[in-house]
Amino acid sequence: MNKVIGIDLGGTTIKFAILTEEGEIQEKWSIKTDIQNAGKNIVPSMIETINEHLDIYKISANEVLGIGMGSPGSVNPRKGTVIGAYNLNWSSLQPVKEQMEAGTKIPFFIDNDANVAALGERWKGAGANGSNVTFITLGTGVGGGIIAEGNLVHGIEGCGGEIGHMHVEPNGYQCTCGNYGCLETVASATGVVRLARDLSEDYQNESELKMLIENGQEITAKTVFDQAKRGDKLAAIIVDTLYYYLGLACSNIANLLNPEFIVIGGGVSAAGDMLLEGVVEYFQQFAFPQVRTSTKIKLAQLGNDAGVIGAGSLVIQNKVVRY
Ligand code: ZN
Repeated sequence: MNKVIGIDLGGTTIKFAILTEEGEIQEKWSIKTDIQNAGKNIVPSMIETINEHLDIYKISANEVLGIGMGSPGSVNPRKGTVIGAYNLNWSSLQPVKEQMEAGTKIPFFIDNDANVAALGERWKGAGANGSNVTFITLGTGVGGGIIAEGNLVHGIEGCGGEIGHMHVEPNGYQCTCGNYGCLETVASATGVVRLARDLSEDYQNESELKMLIENGQEITAKTVFDQAKRGDKLAAIIVDTLYYYLGLACSNIANLLNPEFIVIGGGVSAAGDMLLEGVVEYFQQFAFPQVRTSTKIKLAQLGNDAGVIGAGSLVIQNKVVRY
């Protein structure tokens, strides 16, 4: 039976999985990312561990349809190159596909990590294998991937689906991209903390969260959600502000694309149903009437496996297009 291999390349660990063509994970393992020596050890370490594991499981290279990978940085899926992945020390152009195919003798496919996670959630997670699925990941930053009419949207320079840089507040906080008021500035893990610090300054009533902030305590997005659950009034204002921005972003996405599902994942989405309900309320308010009833917002289901499963999906997608 044919297999696919999925790789989720991150700044601290590289996750691997051997999957069936149907997307069931059969084996999973990970290695530390060795970013020394300008990241030059990364690709050789991936080749070595894949060859080792194929040996262990007695799988020959020609039983593997392909290797798929999600990578940080600017990825050129056609050429199979990556540049500007600073958490890997990959500042110059990396010919990843060429090296991986030479070292494993297996066809290799690559895309950016948010697009690959979108493919994963679409295939085996909340996307129910639909043809129109948008994925938003709320982590350290905000990433996204759009699958429209069955295909990932890349745009002409690979910037399609940069949902984190959708404007939700024209005169808002400055973003890492240089612009102001991007979704990432308020809906990432750091964005939620920024909102909390800012809103607490003007808040005059009693609040445990305000006290924590004023006492110089380390607070995270989780602190804010926990306080909101416990009835803290300031925390409730902060999470409501977050829901407003996310609901607005989702309605803009849905008015443009009318996907079957908008799937929300990443660390901040651990807030769960509370976040989902809050976002849906604003989405309902801002979305076009027929969009409101046809596009559904859901929480991601695959957690950390979205990357390797999506990378496996990338192989299947490319194989289908190729043959
Ligand atoms: Zn931005």
